Amino acid sequence: MERIYIGMGSNLAAPEQQLRNAIEALAQLPGTTVAGVSAFYQSDSLLPGQPRYTNAVAALDSCLAPLELLDALQAIENDQGRERLERWGPRTLDLDILLFGDRLIDEPRLQVPHYQMHLRAFVLYPLAELAPATLQLPDGRRLSDLLAACPFVGLERMPALSTQR
Ligand code: ATP
Ligand code: CA
Ligand code: CA
Repeated sequence: MERIYIGMGSNLAAPEQQLRNAIEALAQLPGTTVAGVSAFYQSDSLLPGQPRYTNAVAALDSCLAPLELLDALQAIENDQGRERLERWGPRTLDLDILLFGDRLIDEPRLQVPHYQMHLRAFVLYPLAELAPATLQLPDGRRLSDLLAACPFVGLERMPALSTQR
């Protein structure tokens, strides 16, 4: 059993509902429990001209192997209508493995920690709701230091009520 953090994002087709559906699907994965979910955040798209994103982070405890989990996440994305047209294009659902225990993974299909998590406020701030500030990445970087270097810009934490219904 390892603690895994998943970054979730959507900017098409009722993003909040997409994230709620994804959380349900994660909870159905074999050998996996959802240990926590952050608040939902709205963030500006990294590329101009796209709708704003809704983002959150989920903490999983899972017995799945990393590539098994990646396959499962991609299946959930596909089930929820993910189309891969252009890199970083708008999407109904994106599920990224941010951290997988304290593993460093560098395979053709999977790099963990996620290569840009340290630069993305919409990843770090929700992650900080679930993980201790003393959390260290496998290379020794501390979550608290990453947060200090990543301003809370272009981001809006949604009130808990708006994540329901
Ligand atoms: P970004 O990776 O910059 O957040 P993206 O999420 O839009 O962009 P995708 O098109 O969803 O990129 O994924 C492209 C490929 O990235 C996937 O097919 C997958 O094999 C690979 N990948 C590598 N590392 C990871 C990871 N940590 N989590 C999820 N996918 C990953
Ligand atoms: Ca992504
Ligand atoms: Ca992705």
